[in-house]
Amino acid sequence: MKSGGPILPGATIGVLGSGQLGRMFAIAARELGYRIHVYSPEDDSPAGQIGDKEFSYAYEDLDRIREFAREVAVVTFEFENVPAASTSAAAEFGPVRPDGQVLHTTQNRLREKTFLAKNGFPVTPFRAVNSLAQLETAAKELGLPAVLKTAAFGYDGKGQTKVTYAAQLRDAFAALRGTEGIYEAFVDFEKELSVVAARTLNGEFSAFPVFENTHANHILDVTFAPANIEERVATEAVALAAGILEKLNVVGLITVEMFLTRDGRLLVNELAPRTHNSGHLTIDACVTSQFEQQVRAVCGLPLGSTELRQPAAMANLLGHLWADGEPKWVEALKDPSIKLHLYGKREARLGRKMGHLTAMAPSVEEAVRRVTTARERLA
Ligand code: AMP
Repeated sequence: MKSGGPILPGATIGVLGSGQLGRMFAIAARELGYRIHVYSPEDDSPAGQIGDKEFSYAYEDLDRIREFAREVAVVTFEFENVPAASTSAAAEFGPVRPDGQVLHTTQNRLREKTFLAKNGFPVTPFRAVNSLAQLETAAKELGLPAVLKTAAFGYDGKGQTKVTYAAQLRDAFAALRGTEGIYEAFVDFEKELSVVAARTLNGEFSAFPVFENTHANHILDVTFAPANIEERVATEAVALAAGILEKLNVVGLITVEMFLTRDGRLLVNELAPRTHNSGHLTIDACVTSQFEQQVRAVCGLPLGSTELRQPAAMANLLGHLWADGEPKWVEALKDPSIKLHLYGKREARLGRKMGHLTAMAPSVEEAVRRVTTARERLA
């Protein structure tokens, strides 16, 4: 077992997962002077291109996981659907941050919402669904409309069905394809917000300003900060996140996705035990990026300032922008306030997150206008 105390620059950090979150984490870690090893089934991955060493094996391959963990001072994540046995194997050799328990709770929507509800955090009413009869009972008890989701392995709206009429229940159940489901009362929300927050081994907590998120086709489209919400709501959102990180005993960085209802209440939708797409604007707009904060939190360094230097907005660049060939980068970059981030993915599939643009401006409205205008110019 490696010794305690802070893990200092020069040490090697291991990342499970190798997508864009791992890539931006690796860039931040390298800036701080760390070495990076990346583990995922992919090769020449977005994170592997930046890391010092890329392990391309299945997450279930415990021998390879052990080999990977032996060489690093700490293991962290950019992808949460890693089997519990793999994080346990990694933990034989040193800290895994956040730990396997946090991962276990947040990997499954039912476990996650049960944990939240049990500890008094506000969530929309929900029920477990393992049979059509259970689904029909849930619909009677909680009413319609609702969203039926797979309990495990869901992201970006995958494995989700909105149910408006009782006649749709049978098809919605079939869409679960025999896996466990969660029936959630539909939230008629006014806004979607997220709080990215870090916590250290000695309980130091720090959150980024609340982000406001808009989605298109269930995928994050544009994020901006500061969120257009009352001070009271922002304070409450950060307090909720602080409570959750403490209850979960998180060492590292996690994201709390929330709904703001039309009557001004906050409901927690989902936890992600990692950095988040909505936090990408922190790279350009905050004193410390979410990725640097993850490095600091998992290595036991003091947390950095999360101050937003200027109002900012981020727009995702999805695969469809490549449908007619390479996007017109020069056109978008004619606005000198635009920052371009691309993730090194070779294939631009429909809906695939390929990169993002960030803009900063004197007002948040102007930042959103700049970033969406620049994105339109790409086509
Ligand atoms: P999720 O995968 O849980 O983050 O859901 C993806 C998106 O679906 C969310 O960002 C919301 O826009 C929407 N959504 C999820 N759950 C609900 C719900 N219970 N009520 C209303 N909209 C929802």
